Formats: sequence, C-alpha cells, structure tokens
Amino acid sequence: MSRYYLTTAIDYVNSRPHLGTAYEKVTADVIARYKRLAGFDVHFLMGNDEHSQNVFKKASEEGFHNNPVAYCDRMEEEFTSVWKALHCSYDDFIRTTQPRHKAAVQKLAQAAYDAGDIYEGVYEGWYCVSCEAFKPEKDLVDGKCPVHPTLTPEWIREKNFFFRLSKYRDRLIKHFEAQPSFLEPEIRRNEILRLLDAGLEDISMSRAGQSWGVPLPFDPDSVVYVWFDALINYATAVGYGTDDARFAQWWPADLHVIGKDITRFHTVFWPAMLWSAGVEPPRQVFGHGWLHYGGQRMSKSLGTSVDPMDAAAPKFAPDAGPDPIRLYLTKEITYGTDGDFTWERFEERYNVDLANNFGNLVSRVVSMADKYRSGRIAPAGDGGRLAGVAAASFERYRNAMDGFALHDGVAAAYQLVDAANVFIADNAPWKLAKDPGNAARLDAVLFEAAEAVRVAAVLLRPVMPTSCDEILRRIGAPVAGAALQLDDARWQSAGERTTIQGPPMWPRSISVPSGDMALTGHAPEVVIRPAKEKSVEEIPAGPGPALAPAGPADDARIGIEDFLKVELRVAKVREATAMPKSKKLIRLLVDVGEAEPRTILAGIAEGYQPEQLVGRTIVIVANLKPRPMMGTESNGMVLAASADGQPPILVAADDTLPPGTRVG
Ligand SMILES: [Zn+2]
Repeated sequence: MSRYYLTTAIDYVNSRPHLGTAYEKVTADVIARYKRLAGFDVHFLMGNDEHSQNVFKKASEEGFHNNPVAYCDRMEEEFTSVWKALHCSYDDFIRTTQPRHKAAVQKLAQAAYDAGDIYEGVYEGWYCVSCEAFKPEKDLVDGKCPVHPTLTPEWIREKNFFFRLSKYRDRLIKHFEAQPSFLEPEIRRNEILRLLDAGLEDISMSRAGQSWGVPLPFDPDSVVYVWFDALINYATAVGYGTDDARFAQWWPADLHVIGKDITRFHTVFWPAMLWSAGVEPPRQVFGHGWLHYGGQRMSKSLGTSVDPMDAAAPKFAPDAGPDPIRLYLTKEITYGTDGDFTWERFEERYNVDLANNFGNLVSRVVSMADKYRSGRIAPAGDGGRLAGVAAASFERYRNAMDGFALHDGVAAAYQLVDAANVFIADNAPWKLAKDPGNAARLDAVLFEAAEAVRVAAVLLRPVMPTSCDEILRRIGAPVAGAALQLDDARWQSAGERTTIQGPPMWPRSISVPSGDMALTGHAPEVVIRPAKEKSVEEIPAGPGPALAPAGPADDARIGIEDFLKVELRVAKVREATAMPKSKKLIRLLVDVGEAEPRTILAGIAEGYQPEQLVGRTIVIVANLKPRPMMGTESNGMVLAASADGQPPILVAADDTLPPGTRVG
C-alpha cells in the first residue's frame, strides 16, 4: 500500500482558532479522507506552534508566567476540541515543546552547522514583536510595521546565527523547474519564482537573550528562531532525530497544506534547510487562500471572526453537526483562491444543497422504496441513464480530487445528485406504482435512484463522513464507513438492498429569513384574493370558490358547506424557480404531505426572488383541478395577499405545522 503523509500548518496558541484557521484543517482533512478512500496508508499531522514570544507573553498575561507549558497544555485542549468538533481525522498532533521536537530541532540545526551553512553574526535592525520578524527599513510604513501599524518596531542589536540561504538559490530555481507541481496553485509558484529571481539573502535563525525555545546545540545561550523551529515539526512527527527507521518510511512528506502567506517559508527556507541537513524536501506544498467574513479579513480584534464551534452547530440547524460547514468550506470556495463566509449564505447553501437537494433525494428514494416495495429493492438491468452520469461523475471527481480541486470534486458528486432528482421527476415512480403492469419498470427506477444516492454518498464521504455513512446505511449499501474504497463509487448492478427509513437528514432551517413579513400585520387593509388578478393567463389556477362571489349579487356571503368544499392545506416550498418567459410566475415544488411534491405556478415573482421561497411554510388550495400553463401543469394555488399596487405577500403558516395539515 502506498503511503501518503500530509500536514497542515501548526498554529500559534496565543488565541483560539477562528473559522479561517479551521478552513485549512477541514480542507486538509478532506484530502486525508480522500486519500484513505483512494487506498493510501495515510498519516495526517496537525499541531500547535508554541515557541513563539507572543505565546510566552500571552501565557504571562494569563498568569502562567513561570509555566508557559501549562498554558500551552490548556490551549492544546482548546484547539483539539475544536478540531474534533469539526471531525478532523488527524493521526498525530504535534506540539513544539515536546521532547521529540527538541531532539529533531537540535539534530537539524547541528547538521546545517556541520555543513557550514550556519555562521555567527550580529543583527541590527527593526523588529516587529507581533510579527516576530525583523523588518527591513524599506518595508516600514511611516516607521511602523505595515501589518501592525499601531505598534512601534523595536531597534534590536544582538548576536544571531545566520542560515546561508543565499547558497541555495540556484538549486531552488532548478528544483522549481524540474518539479512544477512542487508548489500549487500556479499563482503561488509564480510569486516564489519572482522572489528567487530577485535573489536571496542569508537569514537569522537564532535569538539571543531568550529562554523560550530550543537551545542551539553549538551555542546554548541562544535559542532557535521560532520559524526555523516550527518548520522542523513536519520531520519530528515521523521520527527525525528519534526514530530513523520510521523517518525513512514516512519522509519526504507528500503534502504540506498551508496558507498562501507562508509559501516562502515552506518552499524556499524549508527545502534549503533540509538540503543543508542532507534530507529530501517535501514532495508538494499547497497554498490555500483566505476565508473572509462578509468580504472582510477574519479578525478577532475587528469583530469579523467566526467561532468554528458555532459553525459546527449552527443555530439554524443545531443538530446537523459539522458536515454542513465542511460542505460549505469545500464546495463554495475554489480551492486555492480566497473565499467568503456569512451566516446568511451558509444557511442558504444548507437549505439548497442539503435540505432541499441531497437530503430530500435521500428521503424520497427511501420512502418510495418503503412505500412501494416494503424497503426491499433489487436491480433490474444494468442501469439506465444514471449509470452513465455516475461514471462521468466518478472520473471528474477523481481528477478533481487528485489535483486538489476539492470544490470541483464536490460539484462532480452533485452532478449525480441533481441528475437523480431529475430522473425521479421524469420517471414519476408514484405514477408507475398505480399500474401493476409497470412493476418491472418501477423496480428498475427505484434501484437506479438508490444506486445513484449510494454512489454520491461514497464520493461525498470525505467531505461529510458522518452524514454519508448514515445515508449509506439508509440506502442499504453493502459497504460503508472506513472500509469504503474509491472503487465502491463505481456503479453496481447487483445485490438486493434493504432500505431503512429515518427522520430528515437535514431538516430545513428553522430561522425566519429576513424580509419575511407575511401576515405580521404591517398592512391592515390587506384583502385576500388571488394573486395577480389582472393577468388571467398567468394565474396558476382560477379563483377558488371561497374567494369569488358565490351567491346572488345582492349577498356575496356563502354558507359553511361552500367553504368546506375548498381544501386549504399547509405546504412547504421545496424548490422555486423563475419561469423564463414570465415576469410574474414562479414555479414552485411544494410538499403537501403527499408521496410526491406538487408543482404549482404562482404569480408572486413581483414580491419574491425564487431563493427566498425555499423552505417557507405556506397555505395552498389543494383541491383545484390541475391546469396546464406555460408548458407545465399547475396543481393547486398558493394563497397570497397584496395591498393595492403592492407586490404580493404570501399567506404564511407556522413552521411547526407539518405539510398537509388542513387549514379551516
Ligand atoms: Zn508586524
């Protein structure tokens, strides 16, 4: 079995991780889980970076002045509890204060010293405490660090040991030429090539007069500079300095997943350090983009920070676990570029991708299998058009995931989910079920839909492990969990399956969309009438009996028996799409508690965008005769009210009422 060793960056522990930090860990976890699925023996490393002066300072502020390691112990618990809540499946969690790391740092520093690549000098210049970096005069803006304009840099003159980075420039250029995939994505590579073109200077690798760090083996009064110390963690974790056989087995690392701001450390400094010590550089580095919050840099001090724990249990779906945020971070951001997060967008994607799309598909397939075949489904033939879609999705997925286009891998799986939804609508199993003569066809349709769900769940498992295992269980998949292999995502036309019913995988979100003011009393003069009286050709269904004059002209009142003829029911909007040729109509797919959702054309486009409607609980007239309109059959009418000249407002029902509840 081929091995695959991947790592994330290690984090300073002077504050708790925010969602931007989590973005890196979750996407690296998706890669780790994909590699396991693809048959690799994976070793996935995460960890904390503790030898930072900022950590030392924070520990003092928190009352750990004499014992910063105790502060780091506490922060390890904070960090790992977040990573566990996000279901990050790391195999090892390194801390740079561990004895194994001290051994590795001293071994590498000594090897570089012995190779003549470390020499003593004096550093004099500006130093930003917050960056923990020396700042060339030319990089200062008005005498301040550009990243920390509120701090005044310190002028420092101290004995430093320097690493002979300049020596490795030509070798680095050759390395980038020989291995173009060493740094991905390409935009990051071009930045580094420009840097190498400009030339490299030797860099300080030690600090004097500090106790917090690993002492230099050849000068115990100095400690190793935190950046030099930190990079070595990747080698430490697989035995460098402590277990040669293990190191030989796992090194070089296959992939370092890091933020785009530290590519220089990982693809220039780090290979040079390793070469100096006679060790191979890592095989590949991926520099991901930033996660912004509402278009702004995520920052605790700016109040633009999101707690990953909140994202793993969002208010709108508190029991959904971390899978929705894992899907959001993977699917909504082109991997390698910057992305954005807002709670509104997260909730919207949850409703669209999970509640209404994948979750609804699972519910429908399982409930139809239950209703029409008592939960026993068997293959009938080699699979129809969905088998072809599944094969194409599989190839697209594998190519995307192998190239770290995680967003496209998810899109490939959703291509199959979408096709399965269309397949069910086109084949209408509920109609097939009405005629025993269609039994074989119904068998084939049910199995094909179920098999598409199974394949999609295998493909999405690296992103949503818990949910996909549950879906595989419900769909009666022969294999699930850690035993799955990528080949299990190939179409299977054999084997009886037993499906298992369950509550909705992802119930529609329970928070009220902003702008929802239906029936809140803002417009006391509102009268209920069919939406859009004027455009008769666009009214989904004619005026309901209760809403039109029913008696003699001099008395418009009706008796209760007339009213009871009208069947008003609670309905939930599952899908809403604009009608391309109509300014007024929106095509709704609504759940009225029946075996299959209904299509209703509603003249409410002047009041709503289609995406505002999904998930709403509304009231419909359920017993109108179906009526063909604009190439579709409208099967019912939604109740809406509009004040004179105002856009229509839907009549809302309480969200807790189940679909199909009779109103009256
Ligand atoms: Zn700074």
